[in-house]
Amino acid sequence: MSTTPLPGDGIGISIDELPVRDELRGKSPYGAPQLDVPVQLNTNENPYPLPDELVERITERVREAARGLNRYPDREAVELRTALAAYLSRTGKHPLTTANVWAANGSNEVIQQLLQAFGGPGRTAIGFEPSYSMHGLIARGTGTGWLSGPRDDDFTIDVTASVRAVAEHRPDVVFITSPNNPTGTAVDADTVLALYEAAQAQKPTLVVVDEAYVEFSHRPSLLPLIEGRPLLVVSRTMSKAFGAAGLRLGYLAAHPAVVDAVQLVRLPYHLSAVTQATALAALEHTDTLLGYVDQLKAERDRLVVELRALGFEVTDSDANFVQFGRFEDAHAAWQRILDQGVLVRDNGVPGWLRVTAGTPSENDAFLDAVRDLKKEQSA
Ligand SMILES: *Cc1c(COP(=O)(O)O)cnc(C)c1O
Repeated sequence: MSTTPLPGDGIGISIDELPVRDELRGKSPYGAPQLDVPVQLNTNENPYPLPDELVERITERVREAARGLNRYPDREAVELRTALAAYLSRTGKHPLTTANVWAANGSNEVIQQLLQAFGGPGRTAIGFEPSYSMHGLIARGTGTGWLSGPRDDDFTIDVTASVRAVAEHRPDVVFITSPNNPTGTAVDADTVLALYEAAQAQKPTLVVVDEAYVEFSHRPSLLPLIEGRPLLVVSRTMSKAFGAAGLRLGYLAAHPAVVDAVQLVRLPYHLSAVTQATALAALEHTDTLLGYVDQLKAERDRLVVELRALGFEVTDSDANFVQFGRFEDAHAAWQRILDQGVLVRDNGVPGWLRVTAGTPSENDAFLDAVRDLKKEQSA
């Protein structure tokens, strides 16, 4: 880390010399590389810019909001939560009201608020790894102990093994990511129900189903499972299928009591008026935004087929990305692909890399790069 002299005093000090909390010492922050290369297929964004008509609508909504920026925004984001509830009711085939929905700056903030309310010092959370690294990082940031639960060799969650892990560790929060990142693996409703029951058999336990990629899945959303299960939460985001990662808008659906609980820890006015206005404009155009989903699913399926034809192992994917391998040295392979101007992701899963489905020409550039890699490997 950097040693930066403070202005005026001439003293260099590094983070290691600061009195940060013990559990943060020597740790690295979340850091997917943000490199300026021609083809960026590393953070599972939608590759298409927002359409002009939506940009216009955002501009209008933000202009209206701008006049009121002298005031704090709606602390409870009621209009936005109502629009999100309507969207979920329409697409999830499950009726929801404003009271069932909560929104924050990305689903990462939603998860942070859940861990602040239901985790924290003296409590633990479990995830089935490899999975989304932010669950563990946010646990650490909130002082929640982190437990790594098992996955099978094909990256599915084995019901018996995962239920046993929950029974043994008695976590306070259980994370189930479906489709899972970085593997692309979807989880079936029976597995979620088995884990929910196993967790409640120990003590009341929050079960969070992270559905960041559900719009790309072959399986329906697990949202209807919240009915009659007050400790089951489904989290969603506008960063992936909605194509609005820069907006920073995530949300959850759950029993209204869970929404009451996160309000105990959220910062007042956490969602700016500009964010609320932009998200509302985007929600007026859900059909246009989600119009790219079919195309991206087709490109994902093409990546799977072509990578397998090239001789790579590929994990079945329900998301907008594909995990492929195996590499003796995944990081060296990542670098070789980057040398050809294509940025993919090394998630630290030994032997595997992950590529996001981009535009057809971006995917072609990626396939050319890995074709060369394969030739070198077999030469
Ligand atoms: C990308 C991703 C998120 C989204 O985070 P935002 O803060 O909403 O951008 C959440 N969960 C998983 C599993 C993800 O991969």
